[in-house]
Amino acid sequence: MQNIAILCSGGDVSGMNPALKHFVEYTLQKNLTPYFVYDGYEGLIDNKIEQASYCDVSGIINRGGTKIGSARSQRFMQKKYRDIAKQNLDTLGIEMLVVLGGDGSFRGLDIFYKETGIKFCGIPATIDNDINATDYSLGVDTALNIIKTSIDAIRDTASSFKRAFVIETMGRDCGYLALVSHLTSGSELCLIPEKEYDLKSFEDDFKKQIKNGRKYFIAIVSEGIKQDSSEIAQWFENKIGMESRVSILGHIQRGGNPTIYDRLMAYKFITHAVDGLLAGRDESVICYTKSGFEFNSIEEVTSKTKELDAELLSYLDKP
Ligand code: ADP
Repeated sequence: MQNIAILCSGGDVSGMNPALKHFVEYTLQKNLTPYFVYDGYEGLIDNKIEQASYCDVSGIINRGGTKIGSARSQRFMQKKYRDIAKQNLDTLGIEMLVVLGGDGSFRGLDIFYKETGIKFCGIPATIDNDINATDYSLGVDTALNIIKTSIDAIRDTASSFKRAFVIETMGRDCGYLALVSHLTSGSELCLIPEKEYDLKSFEDDFKKQIKNGRKYFIAIVSEGIKQDSSEIAQWFENKIGMESRVSILGHIQRGGNPTIYDRLMAYKFITHAVDGLLAGRDESVICYTKSGFEFNSIEEVTSKTKELDAELLSYLDKP
């Protein structure tokens, strides 16, 4: 029997628990012995590695977050700690690792592979959807659904009080969450880092809309734009003449019950990752693109900044 371990690294996302459940079930089906590494690379160093069974994953498919914890690890940046991690894996006879994480986690994994020969498959997991070479990262759909529910709720209060609401989404330098939320929630304004904007260009139109009976505005702004959300709210008050409020959605976007899409993607990512390792793919990231699942090297995944989908971006210019 071969031993295989899974860990979560970097920011947690909803969809990690369904991935853990399928990991245990699928590896057992393939006659492998599954292990959990708790708390990311920190757990690898501190030997928080335990054999996993069906009991460990019962009742977790509907839960956000990750049962085995996630972490950022400064120590894993140093070779002496990676050597300890390797010793811990050797002691348990673990030769394969599946890692749910982002760019940084994959870079660390690549270095670890080059030093130790521990085979790995990375699974993109971040709500920001900013990992190059993959159109989808685990957790994005659940985050979008949380944002949708929040915007719908804010719309109720905005319309009752005649207010402009500036809703700030996560995404770091990537405007994907804000843009998709804008296109699917009927908001009036969307500001993202990928597109230059001049608030002045909206002023005449927004004032005209108020004259024609508009009672509220919803603006969705990505956290990566140059201005603070409070400045956008001030602009609504000073230039458009409408009382305004800011709502920073924050970490609620990272939690919540995983959607069907994230559960299904977790299932597929894990299946491909385990199959890839068993087929001899020793150092890759399983990506999902328009042509389906494909394995990419760490270099392809981490060397470039992901560009926002051009078609989605073009919709921002259309009325
Ligand atoms: P994400 O995976 O979400 O991009 P980070 O960039 O914070 O998150 O990376 C997660 C972890 O990956 C880091 O805390 C560190 O332990 C490990 N890591 C990142 N870069 C390296 C590196 N160059 N060498 C070794 N480990 C790294």
